[in-house]
Formats: sequence, C-alpha cells, structure tokens
Amino acid sequence: MVVVGAGMAGVQTAVALRERGFQGTVTVIGAEPHQPYDRPPLSKAVLLGKAEGSAFEVDFEALGIELRLGREALGVRPDAHELDTEAGPVPYDVLVLATGAEPIRLPGTEGVPGVHLLRTLDDAERLRPVLARQHDIVVVGAGWIGAEFATAAREAGCAVTVVEAADRPLAGALPAEVAAPMTSWYADAGADLRTHARVVRVEPGEVVLDDGSRVPAGAVVVGIGARPATAWLAGSGIQLGAHGEVVADERLHTSAPDVYAVGDCASFPSGRYGERLMVHHWDNALQGPRTVAAAVLGETSAVYDPVPYFWSEQFGRFVQYAGHHKSADTTLWRGDPSGPAWSVCWLRENRLVALLAVGRPRDLAQGRRLIDAGTEMNPDLLADPARPLKAA
Ligand code: FAD
Repeated sequence: MVVVGAGMAGVQTAVALRERGFQGTVTVIGAEPHQPYDRPPLSKAVLLGKAEGSAFEVDFEALGIELRLGREALGVRPDAHELDTEAGPVPYDVLVLATGAEPIRLPGTEGVPGVHLLRTLDDAERLRPVLARQHDIVVVGAGWIGAEFATAAREAGCAVTVVEAADRPLAGALPAEVAAPMTSWYADAGADLRTHARVVRVEPGEVVLDDGSRVPAGAVVVGIGARPATAWLAGSGIQLGAHGEVVADERLHTSAPDVYAVGDCASFPSGRYGERLMVHHWDNALQGPRTVAAAVLGETSAVYDPVPYFWSEQFGRFVQYAGHHKSADTTLWRGDPSGPAWSVCWLRENRLVALLAVGRPRDLAQGRRLIDAGTEMNPDLLADPARPLKAA
C-alpha cells in the first residue's frame, strides 16, 4: 500500500488499514518535511503561540507505517503500477491519493514580500511573529480561513481590515440571510470589514483597493479558497473533475485500477444528496479513509455517503455545520441571530438536510443524527429553540 500525502487523509488511511488488520507494507509519502500534523489548530492555537505544533499523536513505528517525508510525488503510471517521486519510482499494489488542497494565490502577489497564505505549519510559523509584532494586517477574503485569521489577529492586538469582493462574509458557503448576522461579528471584534472591495495592488506597507483607497498593511494574508493539489497527476490518465479534483466513485476508487482518492483532493458521488461533492473539511479527511481501508480489504458494502460536517471558531463563537443544502431548500431559524446562540435548519420535503449551529452544539449533534436518518420533521416544533431538535 502506498499513500501519497501525509496530511489527515493520508495518515488516517494508513491507520485505518492497520486497525482493520491489513498485514502488508504501508508507506506514506509526503512533500512536507515535518512530522505529519493537523491543520485546524494552525489558524487557532498554533498561530497565537498557545500551542507549539499540532503533530498527530500516532505511533507510526509501532503501527508499522513507513513515513517518507520531504518527498514529492511527481506522477503516476497506472499501467506499470508505479508512482514517480523525487527519489525515484515507487511500485505499488494499491495507491491512495491524499494530496489535499493548496491555497489560491492572489494574482500578481507571487513573491511579493509581506503577502502570506495560511495552509501549512511553515505558513503559521511565518505568521506568528507577524501577529506578535502587532502589524496592521489586511486579510483578503472573508471566508472560513479569513474569519479565523482575523479573529487571531485581533486577539493578538493587530489592526485588521478584511477585504471581501462579495457583499457579505462566507458568500460562497451560506445564503445572504444566514451570513447577514455574521457581518456584525467583524465590527464587534474591532475588525474593519470592507465588502464589495478588491485588492488591485500590494505596495510596500499598504494595499490599494479597486475604489482607489489605500489601507495600511504591514502584512497581507490571503484566504480566497483552495483547490485540489493534483497538478502532478497531469498525464497519468486519472480522471480529474472541473475543479481539478480526482473523480472518485462511491467507494473512493478512481478511474485507474487499484488507485483510490480521499480527502480534500477528491470528489465523490453523494447518494444522500444526489450530486457529486467535494468537501474541504477535516471530518471528510477522517471518515473517507475508513471507506478506503474497507474497500481495499474487499468489504463490498463499504460505500462513502457521509453527512458532511465541519466547525469553525471565529470571533469568540463556535460555528458548526452539518449536511449540504441548496438554495431551493426551506430555511428555518431557531433562536435570535443577533444573540450569541442560534441555529438555522434547511428542510427538503420536511426532512432536515443541513443545519448551521452558532453556539448550539447540542442542536448540531441532534441535527446531524436526524439528517443521517432522514427523519420527517414538524417545522412548527423545529422553530422553537427551547425544544430539543427531534422528530415530530
Ligand atoms: P492536506 O491536509 O492538505 O494534506 C495533504 C498533504 O499532501 C500535504 O501535507 C501536502 O504537502 C501533501 N502533498 C501535496 N502534493 C503532494 C505531492 N505531489 N507529493 C507528496 N505530498 C504531497 N476543517 C474543519 O472542518 N474545521 C476547521 O476548523 C478547519 N480549520 C482549518 C484551518 C486551516 C489553517 C486549514 C488550512 C484547514 C482547516 N480545515 C478545517 C480543513 C482541514 O484541515 C482539511 O480539510 C484537511 O486538512 C484535509 O486533509 P487532507 O489530508 O485531505 O489534505
């Protein structure tokens, strides 16, 4: 077994194989030189220096998992069952692609000093002293990463301006009415959110916006999304989708024999939601590997059809989302969105398909189960935040 990518999905695949009794060799090849680590703490405790690192607590040696770190995979030749790496070809019986995603760069800022991304431990370590020096910071993008970085930068005492091209935060993830209450979170935390704004140029010490205004910027942090890290698969014949993701089937098998794909680099057909999903969240990199391990070991019932889940910690709030909604789904509120704790439910034919919980982890836990079960709900009872989330 050869796994490419030593992030959450790659490591969990190796661990899941051993947990299920796989006896063969397991080799994990990763481009980063560091001991494999978890990414969510990078925009939280690690950034603020509250945690030194976030290495996975996995005893690779005891599990018989060989790590080859600091080594990039350069290509796959499925017919030969060989992976090409910087250190030469590696033969495989079964290959798992788990190369994750890489952040999208702001055009024109490559190599410009003071412009940062936040994806890796190295990125977080470069940003830590920037926060400690309390620079003026411009965050580009009010998505999940932008909001978490802005939170940490305010906590560190930096002046923070967030520049967002859309009319609201999280425009790509949430409908306008749900994101609306989040706009005030920025101001409440002392961050200046500029919507309908784009950075046109980064100059020493400031950024120039498309309305001609100039914002002081000791550092710029770009959080405008991520795309699957799959450029290295060009020419392999392995099918990639519209976003460059590896197209996997319901067992996370790719178009090439004996090659699977899991985590941020892949998409899979969701039977539950009737569409192909590409999920860039931690829980997907935990659950998907269990399906891969089961499939590799020949368990034909292993089908990947999760209720996607993620969380975000921003501006002192714990935000959680489970499921997947579409604009046609009915939105139903539980609680007052101007308060500290509220939830939004999305219903399709009276069944819960998704739920966003702000400071209501119990709603999330109960809602996730109801989504999974496809239970029919009574919308009138659901809207009462004092009632536990449960079937009619
Ligand atoms: P990755 O973690 O990206 O790992 C892929 C690994 O493959 C990388 O180490 C990469 O270097 C390596 N690689 C790439 N190409 C090659 C190659 N050619 N050869 C060898 N190795 C290669 N999700 C949440 O649900 N909640 C959160 O609060 C949250 N916070 C986050 C905060 C930050 C700062 C970031 C960046 C992400 C956060 N996420 C969060 C998302 C979550 O961390 C990812 O979904 C998860 O890391 C995906 O795991 P992965 O293994 O698929 O990919």
